[in-house]
Amino acid sequence: MGRVPEGIRRTVGKDAMQEPFKGILLSRDADKKQSVSVADLTLDDLMDGDTVVEIEATTVNYKDGLAITGKSPVVRRWPMVPGIDCAGTVVSCEGGAFRPGDKVVLNGFGVGETHTGAYAAYARLNADWLIPLPEGISEHDAMAVGTAGYTAMLSVMALERHAITPDRGPVVVTGANGGVGTVAIAILSKLGYHVVASTGRPEEADFLKGLGASEIIHRDELSGPGKPLAKERWAGGIDAVGSHTLANVLSMTSYGGAVAACGLAQGMDLPASVAPFILRGVSLLGIDSVMAPRSLRLEAWDRIRDDLDLEKLRTLSTTIGFDGIVDAARDIVEGKVRGRIVVDMKA
Ligand code: NDP
Repeated sequence: MGRVPEGIRRTVGKDAMQEPFKGILLSRDADKKQSVSVADLTLDDLMDGDTVVEIEATTVNYKDGLAITGKSPVVRRWPMVPGIDCAGTVVSCEGGAFRPGDKVVLNGFGVGETHTGAYAAYARLNADWLIPLPEGISEHDAMAVGTAGYTAMLSVMALERHAITPDRGPVVVTGANGGVGTVAIAILSKLGYHVVASTGRPEEADFLKGLGASEIIHRDELSGPGKPLAKERWAGGIDAVGSHTLANVLSMTSYGGAVAACGLAQGMDLPASVAPFILRGVSLLGIDSVMAPRSLRLEAWDRIRDDLDLEKLRTLSTTIGFDGIVDAARDIVEGKVRGRIVVDMKA
């Protein structure tokens, strides 16, 4: 794995350099069988990068769950420290883009997939992947947002670019109790949209209404094979589910509407017809958070600061310590997690 550059050796505190620190390590044996362990790491175990960050908080996203359980091939370099998101303090930055002590947030860029990631006391990253933590947002809040919440904001921004404003009609959010869904509901409702929340957990209706959902529908209404065109029910949608659900959301979108597709909780397939596109002028907007350009990230984080009620955000997040990461990863792929998980690395 990566060698520690001289610049980093000089600037990172001597003690921090020499003391091993805890991290989660995913390994594969000769038969490609995956295992997960807690290991004592040093910076030598981390891959190259120009910036060392001491991690204050991280989170467990659906993708982290897939990586740790091995359910999908998220990890593409072995061994790997997983964890796709972190917020923390810059310890050293070779190029000078950040100063020691600066607070930063990282989402994606292959961290935790192809580059050693967030589930360790330190991460070595590249400065151009890092966003300055917006004023007024703590590391804990930033991880309550995480990739899921930042993707929700990218999805809202995509709908806005397509002129899906609150006066156009309702917006449906699928996977409502998940990370993307809960944050999307909170943002959309603060912006004045009438939000229809689609969930397989109707017992969480009060929670979803508390976040700002105006209507709750059961996900069974959307999850089976549907018609090419169905009754128009909403002007737009944010879909974290894919498969038949996305096909039905499209077939129920009103004339000129748009759907932001960001997830695949039901499946990666899209058993749809072109009817909504060619007969109703509906648009399908693709959302990728991992390689989204820096300008979009900066805009999304500014919008998160302005358009997400941080008090609401705190009600939809659960805090765990480093030792809870692996169990949380298993729970999220089994659909047992509601809202967002924050990992307090100092707990
Ligand atoms: P979560 O696991 O937190 O939420 C997913 C939600 O989807 C669940 O809470 C559940 O909501 C619903 N769901 C689960 N299984 C099914 C199923 N079989 N059929 C229908 N609905 C189901 O994940 P996240 O919110 O973090 O992520 C959601 C999706 O978005 C994932 O597929 C993830 O990979 C993707 N994603 C994509 C990103 C991108 O850059 N495009 C970035 C971040 C995430 P309920 O119980 O309310 O029905």
